[in-house]
Amino acid sequence: MTAHLTEAEAANELMRLAKAIAHHDRLYHAEDSPEITDPEYDALVRRNAELEAAFPHLVRPDSPSKRVGHQVASSPLGKVRHEVRMMSLDNAFSDEEVVEFVARVRRFLALGEHAPVAMTAEDKIDGLSCSLRYVNGILVRAATRGDGEVGEDVTANVAHIADIPQRLKWGHHPPTPSSEEEGEKDAKAPSSSEEGVGGGASCPEVFEVRGEVYMSKQDFAALNAAQQAAGGKLFANPRNAAAGSLRQKDASVTAQRPLRFWAYGWGAASSLPGATQHEIMRQLADWGFRVSPHLRRCKTVAEMLAAYAAIGAARDGLPYEIDGVVYKVDRLDLQARLGFVAKAPRWAIARKFPAERAETTLESIDIQVGRTGKLTPVGRLAPVMVGGVMVSNVTLHNRDEIARLGVRPGDRVVVQRAGDVIPQLVENLTRETEREPYVFPDHCPECGSEAVAEEGEVDVRCTGGLVCPAQRTERLKHFVSRKAMDIDGLGEKTIDQFFALGWLESPADIFRLHRRRAEILALEGWQDKSVDNLLASIEARRAPDAARLLFGLGIRHVGEVTARDLMKNFHELPALREVAKEARAQLTSIDGIGPAVVEALGDFFHEPHNVAVWEDLLSEVTPPPYIVETKDSPVAGKTVVFTGKLETMSRDEAKAQAERLGARAAGSVSAKTDLVVAGPGAGSKLKQATALGIEVIDEAAWAEIVSAAG
Ligand SMILES: [Zn+2]
Repeated sequence: MTAHLTEAEAANELMRLAKAIAHHDRLYHAEDSPEITDPEYDALVRRNAELEAAFPHLVRPDSPSKRVGHQVASSPLGKVRHEVRMMSLDNAFSDEEVVEFVARVRRFLALGEHAPVAMTAEDKIDGLSCSLRYVNGILVRAATRGDGEVGEDVTANVAHIADIPQRLKWGHHPPTPSSEEEGEKDAKAPSSSEEGVGGGASCPEVFEVRGEVYMSKQDFAALNAAQQAAGGKLFANPRNAAAGSLRQKDASVTAQRPLRFWAYGWGAASSLPGATQHEIMRQLADWGFRVSPHLRRCKTVAEMLAAYAAIGAARDGLPYEIDGVVYKVDRLDLQARLGFVAKAPRWAIARKFPAERAETTLESIDIQVGRTGKLTPVGRLAPVMVGGVMVSNVTLHNRDEIARLGVRPGDRVVVQRAGDVIPQLVENLTRETEREPYVFPDHCPECGSEAVAEEGEVDVRCTGGLVCPAQRTERLKHFVSRKAMDIDGLGEKTIDQFFALGWLESPADIFRLHRRRAEILALEGWQDKSVDNLLASIEARRAPDAARLLFGLGIRHVGEVTARDLMKNFHELPALREVAKEARAQLTSIDGIGPAVVEALGDFFHEPHNVAVWEDLLSEVTPPPYIVETKDSPVAGKTVVFTGKLETMSRDEAKAQAERLGARAAGSVSAKTDLVVAGPGAGSKLKQATALGIEVIDEAAWAEIVSAAG
């Protein structure tokens, strides 16, 4: 927080930060021997940016934010951890999928087939998502979406976007703090006697506005024309131009670019000025944000489809590019009940416009071997523009897809792309032309092992496992990568080299490299210092973050988000393994975990080779229990079993509620069960619970616990 600082204090802290950051920069870049971790370093940079945003007139001539050559991890901008994850949206490509979305919402909420569920509809602008944090109505930080958890700090950059208010408009602006004491008092309790007009309700202390930074079609064309005249870089489309313009290290470049912003939602908020999506969007407009001019509330599915048709018809004439229509459940209490799965909320969906297409020649088909051994055919195309983007590669997915399309090198094909979706090959125009058929390889191009598709599987995989260099080195590289174990100094080349020397068979071997100190030192390019640095950064990961370790193992379908969701629930890796092996059904009740993940985890732990790698690794490293803050609730840490018929909610929703309250939902009653929620018709589980002396409550009592926990 910067709100309570006096100018003198802020200036003092900025001076200390400038010195400290310069010191760590020198250690990191020039001396190659950092004293602090990357996250600690990032925190200093973030603090500096925060202070500079709050006190722009105190920015120092030697400010770290101005220095060239200053790097935060891989990004030139500072990092910001989002207090509330920035979600992405699931997509629908047809009316049927929209109808099914609404039906799914009703099923989850245990509503009748025709029960009204109002939704908002608005056009989905094609730009770059941003989160703007307002404290007491004043913009203190702006961040890009990044990976949804951590974005880039663009506070200085958005200062030049006219659509983004530096201060929200509402009835009673707190006066600018003039001293620490007064500032604190006024900021916390804005007086209602001042300028009593405008938005009405008082402003939440903290409110994060989320929306899209974009460039209009006209401004994009003018920018590219100017770039061309100046011999500069041309942007492929307005979205790229907006992203490239916003994510500038030098905010004065951003200032010269015609960026715009509109709001579509919010993130962290100390209170909400409304009970529906629609009400809050209206409030955002009152506070000074632009929102979609097409935003409307639909009471029926027919109205939703009509909104899509109307926006689609207007699309070409709009001054900005859109790629679809977003629907959101209007009532916020229902949104909260629906929650989310993986990276997307259950209460929203994006209906995408049909893809844009182009015709070109398929020049060749290459096979890539991934770290799971999957052989992926990639089509190499004569480069062609599709929807404003140059496309020269398409994924062909798998053997069946090639057979379905009947494509061979030399064919004329139709390529399409929709939004961010990877370009796809959708049609073969010269299917009838006589040509050598394409034969999918039955051996791995990397190791020569047999490549097969398991029964019921479409993907062909290399059976080389341990001997396939593509799989093993790719897995190791993934394991040490920044988002996984984040081991500095163990780059791709080093892994390839150590692998070739037979020093790295599996991840655990990384933690035994210290025994090869002399051997490493004997290699060309290694000195005492660099070996020490490498071994030190490995040792620094002896107690790794369990979710990062899990993600690093590269289990299919277990991405970063899923790994965290799993660890939030199981806390320790051995507990996860037990359940994944023995009681898969327990996994499906976890918010965020779908059947594909359950299947993949089961498969992983069934493979003796994987278990050996896992055990070997856990003999070298000891992740501390993965604990995340859960809300205070009477059931936190407890195991709950639902049995009998639930009347106001579906079983899935009940389990999701339990998890949100920090409890575990189990499928069967045992001595470990803490609470049984029994509805009508509860049978053997209820008897068992009574016999074991476990507390039993009814659905109404459960609902009270849930509502009491907020
Ligand atoms: Zn192979």
